[in-house]
This record gives sequence, structure tokens and C-alpha cells, in this order.
Amino acid sequence: MSSSQFHTSAKASNLAKLDASKLQITKNTSPKQPLPNDQLVFGQTFTDHMLQIKWNDKEGWASPQIIPYGPLSLDPSACVFHYAFELFEGLKAYRDSNDQIRMFRPDKNMIRMNNSADRIVLPTFDGEELIKSIGELIKLDKHLIPKDKGYSLYIRPTLIGTAAGLGVGTPSEALLYVITSPVGPYYSTGFKAVRLEATDYATRAWPGGVGDKKLGANYAPCIKPQLEAASRGYQQNLWLFGEEKTITEVGTMNVFFVFKNSTTGKKELVTAPLDGTILPGVTRDSILELARERLDPNEWEINERYTTIYEVAEKSKKGELIEAFGAGTAAVVSPIKEIGYNGEDINVPLVEGEQFGELTNTVAQWISKIQYGDEEYKNWSRVVADLN
Ligand SMILES: *Cc1c(COP(=O)(O)O)cnc(C)c1O
Repeated sequence: MSSSQFHTSAKASNLAKLDASKLQITKNTSPKQPLPNDQLVFGQTFTDHMLQIKWNDKEGWASPQIIPYGPLSLDPSACVFHYAFELFEGLKAYRDSNDQIRMFRPDKNMIRMNNSADRIVLPTFDGEELIKSIGELIKLDKHLIPKDKGYSLYIRPTLIGTAAGLGVGTPSEALLYVITSPVGPYYSTGFKAVRLEATDYATRAWPGGVGDKKLGANYAPCIKPQLEAASRGYQQNLWLFGEEKTITEVGTMNVFFVFKNSTTGKKELVTAPLDGTILPGVTRDSILELARERLDPNEWEINERYTTIYEVAEKSKKGELIEAFGAGTAAVVSPIKEIGYNGEDINVPLVEGEQFGELTNTVAQWISKIQYGDEEYKNWSRVVADLN
């Protein structure tokens, strides 16, 4: 080890850790009136306060601050603007029937956020301390957390490199901030099954890349292919990879297929394995765990394996494709009704007269019951604030 490396690590251990007990609050003196539930548009309105925590490489994490929601002021040369030192998370808080606020598996988001931070040399932190600080933020804005099933508070933790200067290197300053947005059900009139265009001319993520991290840089390049798909009547891209046309994800969600073997009658739930190109979704993980626990193993196989657009097309022809859905925090599950590839549309069956498949609906119920605290499952739904 060189002396300079030694110096760096010795210094690193003296840096202040993120510490929720140091939280300071400056209240917003003109609090908002809550919007009526039916006027909530995803990610368009924000609460009265935000959490911000500054970091630098001399002192480490500063005291967490809750301040009135408002613009940031950054140097135009800040590295976030030039080299995409940015990552984010997305999770929700739900109001249960006893007016307690619950977060769904926030520890998973904290692990993922730290993995994203580590990959682009932004500072890491103790996730439990951030969860506690977010709990305080939520308490302060409790009058803006919508009631009713399907409604929730979307939480957007963000970490950016703020160091000024155009050199490409390790950011010496960073800002972690958290904003929250009251949201309604993703589909205001129940499920709405979508048409996908299987996309092979553009690639969302690749081996050795950063598709498994929630870096902002992964998202901007996906909009143009989405617009192209939209111009042909498809709402989202089904992202394929490589010569084999392996199915990876749909839009910004993980994707699941349900097959049924016409000889044995056995059903299979399939999603891509976490090989570094797949975002490790909390919803994906939750669906796999609950399916393994709750579906009858005599009837079902639950597999994290590769499937291709060719396998899906072939199974469809044989009547063995029985369901497909996307999975992610915003919608929980998003039913799929059609997949366009090479000028042909693969039809995905739905329950007669409905906009969803049977298992799609079942897993949506399973997860929503746990999120709203109607059912306790392990420690997945954590009470972070009590409004009583
Ligand atoms: C966030 C995200 C998901 C879903 O993750 P959840 O933790 O379930 O919300 C899936 N794919 C991509 C590309 C994502 O950005």
C-alpha cells in the first residue's frame, strides 16, 4: 500500500457519518393545502419540505437539514451537470387504516442506493439513518399524505456530485436530498393493459455496464426509443439484448412472463436473472419471494432464467403464453396485452372482460395488502410515523 493510499483511508475513517440524531428543522411558514385526491398527477406536486444532507471529503456528512421545498443553487461547473454524477431511488409511504405511515422494505432501497453511489464514487452512508431522517420529513408533511386505497406518498431520494470544476474525477462534494410527492393509483380506473414494442435496435443495458444501478444516466437515452414505439402505437419498449434477443426489462420496470406447458399442465413464472444488466427491483424480489412461498409447487415453477422474444412468440403460437406483466414501485404490476416484434403482434391473454391476467391480479393484491398494513409479512411494511 502506498503512503498516499494509507493517508486516504486513515482520513476516511475520521469523516463524520450520516447521523439522523443531528437533524435540524427549518419549517415552511406557508404550508400548502392538500390537493383533492382526484387532482394528483404522478410526480407533479411536492410537499412543503425537503431533506438535504451535504457531504464533503474533508468532514464527511453534515447534519441532516429539513428545509422548505425549493430550488437548489449550484455552481454551473458542478460535476452533476457535466458528467452525470447522479443517482436516485423511488419508494413509497402508505397510510394504513390506523393512520400510521408505513414504508415498504426501505432497507432494500438503501442498499441499492449505496450500491449506486459506490459505482460512481459518490459517498455511501448508513441507510437506517437516512430512513429515520425521511421518517421525520414525512411527519412534518403528514397533512399532505393522501388517505384512501391506492394513494400514497412517493419518496425520491437523490444523490448528486456538487463539486465545482470541469476535471473528471472523484467528486469532493456531494448533496443527498429527498423530496416527496403525494400520488394516486397508477391506473386511476383500475388496471390498463399495455402494448409493448420489442426493441432490439437500442439497448438499455449491457454486460459490464451499469443497468443494475439507478443512475440518472441510464434513463435519458431510453426516451427516444419510447417515442418511436409510441409513434407506432406501443406504450413501452420491451428491451431485448444481444443476438439471442433475450428479454431484459419493460420500460423502467422488471418483466415477468407466465407460461403453461400444454403437455404437463405445469405453469412457470419467469423473470430475467440478476446478471448485472437487470435493475434489482424491490417489487421483483417481493413477487419472487411471495410466489415461491404461496404458489403450489405441484402446479408452479418459479424461475429466474433467460427467455427470448423467440421463445415467447413460439409459446404464444402453441397457446402456452398465458400472462405477462411489468413490476415496479409506481404501479406495482402493469399488465401486458400485446407485444409487437418484426411486424407481428404477439397476443397476451387477459382474464375475459378484464384488463389483467389472473396471477397479475393476485400478486398485486398480495403486495398491496402488505404495503397498507392489512397484512403483516416479516418486517416488509415498516411503521415510520404515527399520525395519531
Ligand atoms: C426502479 C426500476 C425498477 C423497479 O424497481 P422497484 O424497486 O421495484 O421500484 C425496474 N427497472 C428499472 C430500470 C428501474 O429503474
